[in-house]
Amino acid sequence: RHADRPAISFQLLSDPRSKARTLTWNDLHERVTETANLFRSLGVGPKDVVAYLLPNTAETPVVLLAGATAGIVNPINPLLEPEQIASILRETGAKVLVTLKPFPKSDIAQKAAEAVAQAPGVKTVLQVDLRGYLSGLKRLAIPFLRPKMTTTNQAKYLDFEAAASAQRHNRLTFDEPEGDRVAAYFHTGGTTGTPKVAQHKQSGMIYNGWLGSEMLFTHRDVLMCPLPMFHVFAAYPVLMSCVASGAQLVMPTPAGYRGEGVFDNFWKLLERWQATFLITVPTAIAALMQRPVDADVSSLRTAISGSAPLPVELYNRFRAATGVEISEGYGLTEATCLVSCNPVDGMKKVGSVGLPLPYSHVRILRRTPEGFHECATDEIGEICVASPGVFEGSTYTEADKNHELFAEDRFLRTGDLGRIDPDGYLWITGRAKDLIIRGGHNIDPAMIEDALLSHPQVAFVGAIGQPDSFAGELPCAYVELVAGATADVSELMAHARDHIPERAAIPKHVEILPELPKTAVGKIFKPDLRKLAIKRVYD
Ligand code: ATP
Repeated sequence: RHADRPAISFQLLSDPRSKARTLTWNDLHERVTETANLFRSLGVGPKDVVAYLLPNTAETPVVLLAGATAGIVNPINPLLEPEQIASILRETGAKVLVTLKPFPKSDIAQKAAEAVAQAPGVKTVLQVDLRGYLSGLKRLAIPFLRPKMTTTNQAKYLDFEAAASAQRHNRLTFDEPEGDRVAAYFHTGGTTGTPKVAQHKQSGMIYNGWLGSEMLFTHRDVLMCPLPMFHVFAAYPVLMSCVASGAQLVMPTPAGYRGEGVFDNFWKLLERWQATFLITVPTAIAALMQRPVDADVSSLRTAISGSAPLPVELYNRFRAATGVEISEGYGLTEATCLVSCNPVDGMKKVGSVGLPLPYSHVRILRRTPEGFHECATDEIGEICVASPGVFEGSTYTEADKNHELFAEDRFLRTGDLGRIDPDGYLWITGRAKDLIIRGGHNIDPAMIEDALLSHPQVAFVGAIGQPDSFAGELPCAYVELVAGATADVSELMAHARDHIPERAAIPKHVEILPELPKTAVGKIFKPDLRKLAIKRVYD
């Protein structure tokens, strides 16, 4: 329906005047078809895996969609180390890897080469050339195309663009979408430990796209999304929703929140693209709120935040700075993604994650020796979900462990704690794994984090339980301050005492770090904070 309209645009965040790369829906369709043909010609069948190790580029959504069309696509986080990448490639048995050509200031090509050397199953490496992104700037001479490595794996290295365009006139036929076919392996964010792999069916991918087009976006919308496309959030509710609705997707590159000044030009880019939706995560919103809104953002209709709790304080700061409300939503990799969201045009409850989306059923359950017990309205228990997106299990978990992932009637146990209020809104109250247990008393770290975040000089907080021989655990908090802040630990302790309603939750220890450890989608990485606490207690 929207063949000649812009579908996806990429632009360097560091330079709002640099030339953007835009694909129309027609371009996207053609490029996906030729790339899927290329994968088939490289021996990829419906059960074979195409992995990609890419930042956000115009090729990334093409590879994602083509990989899921020809076989099973497996996005890999480029921040991982070569050994971790190699281990994923071996586990999934990937035949083809799509990655970057060597490019200044990027270590992705080198990491890919080191990983492929340890993953003999990879027969072909397709390299995307990023130099096209530098048009308008001085072209860079890159003398070597194959990273220098001694390798035991004689994988073929091919130029992605040249290999794909050679398929331009081939018209291989593809199976019609089959809902039941596994089309993707995605890894969870690894916030609580080692990332787990989830297998996604085509039906789950399409369901997420349908939800976005039904509930959130129309073809008149322009979505600005600074999230990496190896994570479910950008891949499904964002990319697939654009595919389903015809909305335009603008992806600034590089994605994420890392790196000095990554967001310096963000508001100017938003103005330039006349974006109507901002889709992102709380850490990126916090980073954006550390700089003035120095552009006209009146095109913005709403913002959507997910993947981690959005502090009420941050919601208020954002609304005051932009005049726009944030709809907070909730999802997880094991459910392909979306579960609930505050309505964009209806009643939002700030602090809640909104209403379950159509065909997503949420139950709050509590485990008793007799089995699972349904909680009453407003009673806290484990959030369990059934929906067309919920996966059947992890590929690499033994069948009996997969069984433990589900409660009754195939309701997925999310490991998140929450309640449903009398209006049907879902409130997340914590993660079972993150609770601080002080002498048998459960403390929700969010209570400590919200209190400290209400201090104007605090940018990020991670509260955890530090081991204690008497109480088992004692609450403690790690804090990253905003740039140029002067607050010290005693001021933060006093603020915590004044703002935490429960005495037992007042942290025993507050420490200021230059930067808190975060995952690729900007969640505070608590396993590293726990290591710091253990070191401090036992050293
Ligand atoms: P891992 O499962 O490997 O520890 P992860 O939890 O980050 O990592 P994801 O699938 O990326 O894996 O994230 C899903 C989780 O994110 C949910 O289970 C929930 O804990 C959290 N989450 C998502 N949205 C929200 C939200 N709006 N508020 C609070 N938590 C959220």
